[in-house]
Amino acid sequence: MKVQNVTVLGCTGSIGVSTLDIIRRHPDCYQAFALCAHSQLDKLFEQCLEFRPRFAVLRDVQLAGRLAERCRQAGLDTEVRHGVEALVELSSLPEVDSVMAAIVGAAGLEPTLAAARAGKKVMLANKEVLVMAGELFMQAVREHGATLLPVDSEHNAIFQSLPADFARGLAACGVRKIFLTASGGPFRNTPLSELCEVTPEAACAHPNWVMGRKISVDSATMMNKGLEVIEAHWLFAAPPEMIQVVVHPQSVMHSAVQYVDGSVLAQLGNPDMRTPIAYAMAYPERIDAGVESLDLFKIARLDFSAPDFARFRCLQLAYDVLCEGGTASAILNAANEVAVAAFLERQLPFLGIAQLNEAVLTALPAGPEGSLGDVLAADAEARRVAGQMIRERRFA
Ligand code: NAD
Ligand code: MG
Repeated sequence: MKVQNVTVLGCTGSIGVSTLDIIRRHPDCYQAFALCAHSQLDKLFEQCLEFRPRFAVLRDVQLAGRLAERCRQAGLDTEVRHGVEALVELSSLPEVDSVMAAIVGAAGLEPTLAAARAGKKVMLANKEVLVMAGELFMQAVREHGATLLPVDSEHNAIFQSLPADFARGLAACGVRKIFLTASGGPFRNTPLSELCEVTPEAACAHPNWVMGRKISVDSATMMNKGLEVIEAHWLFAAPPEMIQVVVHPQSVMHSAVQYVDGSVLAQLGNPDMRTPIAYAMAYPERIDAGVESLDLFKIARLDFSAPDFARFRCLQLAYDVLCEGGTASAILNAANEVAVAAFLERQLPFLGIAQLNEAVLTALPAGPEGSLGDVLAADAEARRVAGQMIRERRFA
């Protein structure tokens, strides 16, 4: 097998570091071609020393200059770039075989879209891409012959549980339902009256997964599951009513597909993101991901229950915007990014996240998702309105 050149967008994050662990375990199969991060200079430098990529990217020119100097002093011939243009270029160069899309939030949209337009193998963790611009992105994948592999554990499980030719239509494949599992986050059983007091530290302490701060907060509000409903809709062309969220606190069954004959196919495993990452990297082969084998006797039981839409308002908002269509989901995504950032900076109470999301959706009408420009304009406007509402405390 030829060594695959991999561009890692978001290499210093939780998914990025797990991706590099797979590369480390299989140096005969994968080479880090470009390592791209926001501002963690020291961490990126360490990664450059170990993985010796052709390119490294940081967000701004000063940081990039400092990294370049350190690489030079260390005798590395890594070329250092900065900014979105560099991310776009390094996701589409002819030498690149695959792109791990693991930037968090809307910032990942342009480079991930560029990878799809360049017909790359796109390993998608950055679910916000599909939430913002699902139609455009899926169209780019089809038109440019890109290979799209879901890394989000639930969607990876669904992908593994569907027939290879699912693109001909779920109904045609005999699919009746998709069970999208959710751990329920750290506040599944917390009394509603205590949720107003929740701190960023408590919200980021997920019971089963260690993740970046934004997705951790999204898991606590169940916005994450809402974003994943939208993600599943686009990945598998599944109508909203076919996607059923199931609370499963052990996070062992990563999702499942129910067929018309009564069969349910699921993918199970320990909650370790290296499994879906390795699956996507090696597809259609399988490689060792360094993940501990699942011990069914230790797990002993699996529990399932229905989600509480009243408690987790964000989950309902996601179904609503999916039914509305157009830029509604881009507006929700942008409002939520602003709300989560404000919550992490202690500018917004935990329950204010859902309130702000709802208020922004009410204030802004959705338009058609015609072009990338339409999506970015809706995103910018929603951020502006959300910021203003926070400053004026107008959301509740
Ligand atoms: P994280 O916060 O740990 O890492 C984010 C990465 O993106 C960092 O490397 C950061 O430097 C980079 N980044 C952020 N803004 C950037 C910008 N403007 N330009 C360039 N780089 C930028 O996040 P994470 O937990 O690794 O999640 C990444 C994505 O994967 C998210 O979309 C998340 O929803 C998704 N995801 C994560 C997990 C998980 O277990 N962590 C599981 C499923 C899906
Ligand atoms: Mg997930």
